[in-house]
Amino acid sequence: MKNIRIMTQIIFLIFFSFVIVNGNMVLWLVIFLLSLLGAAVFGRFYCGYICPMNTAMGVTAKLAKRLNWQMKSVPKVLKSKSLPWIVLVLMIATMIVSKRVLQLELPILLMLMALSIIITLRYEEYVFHNHVCPYGALLSLTGKGAKFSTKVDTSQCIGCKKCEKVCPSMAVKVDEKEKVAKINPALCHQCQSCTLICPTKAIRYTKI
Ligand code: SF4
Ligand code: SF4
Repeated sequence: MKNIRIMTQIIFLIFFSFVIVNGNMVLWLVIFLLSLLGAAVFGRFYCGYICPMNTAMGVTAKLAKRLNWQMKSVPKVLKSKSLPWIVLVLMIATMIVSKRVLQLELPILLMLMALSIIITLRYEEYVFHNHVCPYGALLSLTGKGAKFSTKVDTSQCIGCKKCEKVCPSMAVKVDEKEKVAKINPALCHQCQSCTLICPTKAIRYTKI
């Protein structure tokens, strides 16, 4: 499963590079819009399998952790719920102004990718995923009502928190009182890292 995910991420990263080189951003927009609709049924697969930013962030996070660059404390501004929407408005405004006024095609997605890498060098991946990324904010709107998603069978869960530690988006949390894990489909990337690490096989992708 892990290898399939990595292969898919590499394929989409190559495709994304092709789209950037050829300036065919409409094609990527179509992929994103289909993923946005698909998230309402199947969850946020775009984040876990397609998003080039997430692919770059995965590599960045490994490097930053190894070099001990990441900090646990996160500034308030990077925790604001409105930040992804501000980033979205800024992205759209920059695109319109640069195209209409300056006659320039600014590489907005590459700029966002650079931002995701810079933030991930300093903070854990969830900071960009949950508090900065405008695509993540849009996908959480449709993803929260997903009909299928990664889910914990609470009768099998022993509350060991192994799933919490591997989750890149803080989508899974062990309830301190009940001592069982629960997954928030609005934040879940369907990456299956938790499924693979769970010692009791309590997690699976299933109907909600
Ligand atoms: S890894 Fe499995 S058993 Fe451990 S808390 Fe998560 S769901 Fe429960
Ligand atoms: S809850 Fe599991 S499948 Fe969802 S993002 Fe976290 S690790 Fe991945």
